[in-house]
Amino acid sequence: MNKIGVLTSGGDAPGMNAAVMAVARSAAMYGMPLVGIKRGYNGLLRKSTSVYDDLEEMRLDTVLDIADRPGTYLRTARCMEFMDPAWREVAANTLRAMDIDGLVVIGGDGSFHGAEYLCKLGIPCIGIPGTIDNDLPYTEMTLGYDTAVNVCVNAVRAIRATSRSHDRPHVVEVMGRHCGDIALTTAVSTGSEIVLLPEVEWSVEDVAARLNRQIAKGNTRATIVVAEGCWESMEPFDMYTFLNSHGKKCYEGEPISAERFASIMKRMCGMVEVRHTVVGYTQRGEIPTAKDSAFAFEAGHLAVRLLHDGISNQVIGIKNGKVFYTSIDTALQAKREFRRDLYDLVNNM
Ligand code: ADP
Repeated sequence: MNKIGVLTSGGDAPGMNAAVMAVARSAAMYGMPLVGIKRGYNGLLRKSTSVYDDLEEMRLDTVLDIADRPGTYLRTARCMEFMDPAWREVAANTLRAMDIDGLVVIGGDGSFHGAEYLCKLGIPCIGIPGTIDNDLPYTEMTLGYDTAVNVCVNAVRAIRATSRSHDRPHVVEVMGRHCGDIALTTAVSTGSEIVLLPEVEWSVEDVAARLNRQIAKGNTRATIVVAEGCWESMEPFDMYTFLNSHGKKCYEGEPISAERFASIMKRMCGMVEVRHTVVGYTQRGEIPTAKDSAFAFEAGHLAVRLLHDGISNQVIGIKNGKVFYTSIDTALQAKREFRRDLYDLVNNM
């Protein structure tokens, strides 16, 4: 193998730059030139007016400087064309024309599907799981997850301090559309009283009853940590009728949100205030923790070693605390084990 490429794809995740740095270090060690591909698979489609918008020869000194920066230096984007076999052929031809013999893809399960297709077109690929959601069951941890959780834990700790001062319960929404791991680990790590996840059905009335029990016991500053996807697992509730009949204007068909949910809790529990905070994009743009950076370092090196040794169609992960690799296919078929025990521990107050 002579020259290799690297790209970041899907949602950005802290640690993507650290992984690119490790790939660059390892490529330099093997004497293999490295090309950075911009904006995920888009950089391979030759749609830009200048090649410099799509591809960049990665110099080691540049890459060493970006290692601890959040975001992704190579940029990232979704690339809908990649669903189309004709466009994937264009991408494979671009790689061949550039004499790029192998590709490291840093992204989530969607990006891994794309990599699997490229492998079938004869381009050796290795995937590194870069996504804050921790929604890839074949690995104990995805790159960026630990950083995202730490952002949320810091936010909830700060919120619990002010909640205590003002006797105000608080609803805190964190990321996680289909996978509630960020919310669950945040709740566990902060001693929060209630957690709501996309994985478990819940009802507004039940949460209000539990919050009321906390208040009756003198805990007037309980924290309800919610994953952004938890609204999908909520049992039907007529928010429009409830809020309008309790002195709060609400429009018909309005979707529920952390703000609306806090409003409902305030009225159902007779509190002066129940506040809400959406932690939002700070979870994605933080400097990677040591744990994420260390994983990125090992994963980047392993990815290049595999390509160098002629091994392809694999993704890297963590099993029993150790970095390992498995086939893309096996990884994408892995079933998730939801930590119901932890969920029950948080919610049993
Ligand atoms: P993630 O990689 O974080 O799961 P997406 O699901 O948005 O993020 O996927 C990122 C990109 O991977 C998509 O924009 C597309 O270019 C490519 N991709 C996703 N799913 C597929 C698929 N089934 N086949 C081919 N390419 C895909």
